[in-house]
Amino acid sequence: MKKGLLLCVCQGTCPSFHNMNIFEVGNAIRREGLIDFMAIHPQLCADDGDVFLSTLTEDKANIDKLYIAGCDPKMQQKMFRDAFERSGFDKTKHFGVDIRNMTTEQAVNAIKNLIKNN
Ligand code: SF4
Repeated sequence: MKKGLLLCVCQGTCPSFHNMNIFEVGNAIRREGLIDFMAIHPQLCADDGDVFLSTLTEDKANIDKLYIAGCDPKMQQKMFRDAFERSGFDKTKHFGVDIRNMTTEQAVNAIKNLIKNN
């Protein structure tokens, strides 16, 4: 069973993500071995983001927890519901955290807290 982290960045154009280095955010989590796999996606709430999520979670038995750092977790639940329903992925295995308007260090800490507490 694996733990994964997805970073979503509103196409990289939204000012909410301009105070952080998203690559360094992901690298900091990777370096500490807190997750088994990670990816940065430009826009998970777009149609191809839906396809990405449903394809990734098709192997649902192998994914224990899927952490997603991006926008508000409640928004995430609504936006990703169809993709998870399509793949049959248990949505209670999705844990979201809002990292908008954070610095690199703040985003890393927010993700670490999410992982630690879930
Ligand atoms: S899922 Fe959230 S963080 Fe990702 S592009 Fe959509 S609004 Fe932005």
